[in-house]
Amino acid sequence: MKEIKVFCPATIANISCGFDVLGVALDSVGDEMVIRKTSENGIRITRLEGQNLPMETLQNVAGVAGLALLAASDYSGGFEIEIYKKIKAGSGIGSSAASSTGAVWAMNELLGNPFSKLELVQFAMEGERLASGVSHADNVAPALFGGFTLVRGYEPLDIVPIPSPSELFATVIHPQIEVKTSDSRKILKTKITLADGIKQWGNVGGLVAGLFTNDYDLIGRSLVDYIVEPIRSILIPGFDEVKIAAIEAGALGCGISGSGPSIFALSKGEEKAVKVGNAMREIYQNIGIDYDVHVSKINLDGVRSISS
Ligand code: ADP
Repeated sequence: MKEIKVFCPATIANISCGFDVLGVALDSVGDEMVIRKTSENGIRITRLEGQNLPMETLQNVAGVAGLALLAASDYSGGFEIEIYKKIKAGSGIGSSAASSTGAVWAMNELLGNPFSKLELVQFAMEGERLASGVSHADNVAPALFGGFTLVRGYEPLDIVPIPSPSELFATVIHPQIEVKTSDSRKILKTKITLADGIKQWGNVGGLVAGLFTNDYDLIGRSLVDYIVEPIRSILIPGFDEVKIAAIEAGALGCGISGSGPSIFALSKGEEKAVKVGNAMREIYQNIGIDYDVHVSKINLDGVRSISS
């Protein structure tokens, strides 16, 4: 095989209570990429459509993640990359992670799968380092493994795939405002109280248990963030109203996707997820902010090949 076309899913990181450790892959929103083997060594981005992003290999997360894989491989050739962005950069649904993940997964396929998924996460994390200055795995892990993932630890990297109940759907609304990832990190406190910690890790345990046992009520009760959301939500106009509207429309829970400004909700069943999307939409219509809405089932496979 010389060439492969892949679907690279958008992802929701944090999922309310799991700041920096939980993430989930989406199915109906993601980028497409074409990766091609070349005889000359190195990586070239030959096409980039849909978003205004750098095409230089060292400035693009797909190039940087791909170079990390090349450096660890004994392959003497190189790759050409075409990127068709559907996910808006800086939206909070893992735009950079989709490109990093798509690149390394496709290259691994073209080389006959010499690397494990865990190794691919580590290469893709180099792309995340370029995008945000921190080589975090909470978006790239679900993009590669599919479903929900827990980053249990970094030293050594330990990723735990978590099953998803079959009727679980995600709704994401992306208000078209700019929230810089660096700003949304800067405003966070570096210390938390023991009381908040106890409530928060109770919820992380509850959410993971609910996902394993298909207990939708437990999932809903656990989708509460005592630590980050109260601070970060200040940067997202209309956040409280959107959250109230989503819960009133029947969502199990609602919170900030990644570092925002996208807001996600989880619901039981697609019909409910669509209703939740309509309720969220109404809030931004009234405020007068443009938005995109995505309703998606949980993507259990992660990045995958598609026919060209
Ligand atoms: P999101 O908020 O959707 O997770 P990120 O903050 O992860 O988005 O990434 C956006 C940043 O990464 C932008 O600064 C963008 O210029 C940079 N970037 C570099 N290459 C890419 C790429 N291929 N796709 C998306 N973003 C990229």
